[in-house]
Amino acid sequence: MTKPSFATVWLDGCSGCHMSFLDIDERLIALVQLVDIVYSPLVDTKVFPDHVDIALVEGAVSSEEDLEKIKHIRAHTTTLISLGDCAVTSNVPSMRNAWGPDAVLRRAYIENVGYRPLIPDQVIPRLLPKVIPIHHVVAVDVFIPGCPPSADTIFTVLTELLQGRTPDVSALTRFGA
Ligand code: SF4
Repeated sequence: MTKPSFATVWLDGCSGCHMSFLDIDERLIALVQLVDIVYSPLVDTKVFPDHVDIALVEGAVSSEEDLEKIKHIRAHTTTLISLGDCAVTSNVPSMRNAWGPDAVLRRAYIENVGYRPLIPDQVIPRLLPKVIPIHHVVAVDVFIPGCPPSADTIFTVLTELLQGRTPDVSALTRFGA
């Protein structure tokens, strides 16, 4: 029987949520017996597949690239999980919202640079005016708050979903946990 396909995605986050996912340790072996990992920063695949059953998405939407990516992922995913406080509320990345992208770029590339200060206009993705949580731009099916959510929480939510149950996420984690 074909296993459900599973992806993990990294938008604007510190990768701490992915580190917490990896902290499920030996239960990764149990997980890969239940799913096929078809896309992730942790594997080599560079193209999001045409259909993914479950996508676990870390990070806020900060750039035009993030926006394009999450819309594409939503269109090709059955169950989209917003993983961690950055994905759920925009959290740390949204600290720049009070100043806007121009001030942040100036601070990073001009004011704090001693040699050839220059704001790049190529290669790096263009920043959005505000950093926003994932559900502000696409529908989200499951929210897992926490900074980061614990490995136990991530594993429990995934296995509950894979067994066709609705996990009680509020009993497992909280914002900032
Ligand atoms: Fe990092 Fe916390 Fe954001 Fe996860 S929620 S990406 S751990 S800052």
